[in-house]
Amino acid sequence: MKLSLVVPCYNEQDNVELFYEECVKAFDGKVSDYEFVFVNDGSADDTLAKLKKLYNEKTESNITVVSFSRNFGKESAIYAGLKNSTGDYVSLIDADLQQRPEVVLEMLDVLENEPEYDCVAAYQAKRKEGSVMTGFKKGFYNLINKFSEVKLHADASDFRTFTRPVAEALIDMSEYHRFSKGLFSWVGFNTKFIPYEVQERNAGETKWGFKSLVKYALGGISAFSTKPLNFATYFGLLATCISLIYLIIVIIQRIFFNHAFSGYATIVVLILLFGGLQLFGLGIIGSYLAKTYIQSKNRPIYIAKEILKRD
Ligand code: UDP
Ligand code: MG
Repeated sequence: MKLSLVVPCYNEQDNVELFYEECVKAFDGKVSDYEFVFVNDGSADDTLAKLKKLYNEKTESNITVVSFSRNFGKESAIYAGLKNSTGDYVSLIDADLQQRPEVVLEMLDVLENEPEYDCVAAYQAKRKEGSVMTGFKKGFYNLINKFSEVKLHADASDFRTFTRPVAEALIDMSEYHRFSKGLFSWVGFNTKFIPYEVQERNAGETKWGFKSLVKYALGGISAFSTKPLNFATYFGLLATCISLIYLIIVIIQRIFFNHAFSGYATIVVLILLFGGLQLFGLGIIGSYLAKTYIQSKNRPIYIAKEILKRD
């Protein structure tokens, strides 16, 4: 049984060595065969140098280093890691030690002893971020679960361990706009969710600001649902019905009661309202069109400048 650890690294110069040591401590004697697949996602610091040092010095370990030509994002890094992994089991784990390698042992235990499961996902038992962020994330999951065909576990991260068939299924999904949580749900398989305690980041800082999270969330919805596209249809239909009824009222009032309607303010408000709604609808269509456009170019998900691997 071989385990592959897929580790996306972006500006993690102060973490990768400690990460390696902690993993060795946790796995030696417990996991018979394991490999590290580090993906350097275009780091601007010394991450690549540190990874090369590990590769050259720790020859007793099975280490692969994939280095991107620029920053492609965590999702691309995960994809590259999966493609370069060879284990029967694959774990996705961050380089910053927020996710303890000991939890991977728990996950392996489930996969080995409960064969009905193909994937084990860890969820945060207690969220450590502020209540505004927690509320925002909850709202997002409610929204995406309502909108899309895939169902997402609100607290589950992409800290997971799964079998080779799951990894192959994910590799087969070569879409450009990747949203891992949705992909995991889409490919199916039986997933067990186990709680874990998220740790403080060892060094460096998170790459996720509020803005990038909102962008990620909206990307997640449009990647797995086309329901927002129906918005314009439904709303247009509703507005047409209401205005037809109103038109009939106006005609009847004019013919039978000789009553003329006035109202500058009403007209201005209605023009603004419908102008706004039309632009909103167009924007939604535009965002899907943009994704289709990018996907149709069939560009690679990542470009590896260098791959260090021992046979
Ligand atoms: N990461 C990456 N590419 C990016 C951003 C992040 O490979 O563009 C990696 C990062 O090095 C870390 C993991 O993804 O190993 C999670 O990132 P981070 O710790 O910033 O996210 P958080 O834990 O705050 O959600
Ligand atoms: Mg982190």
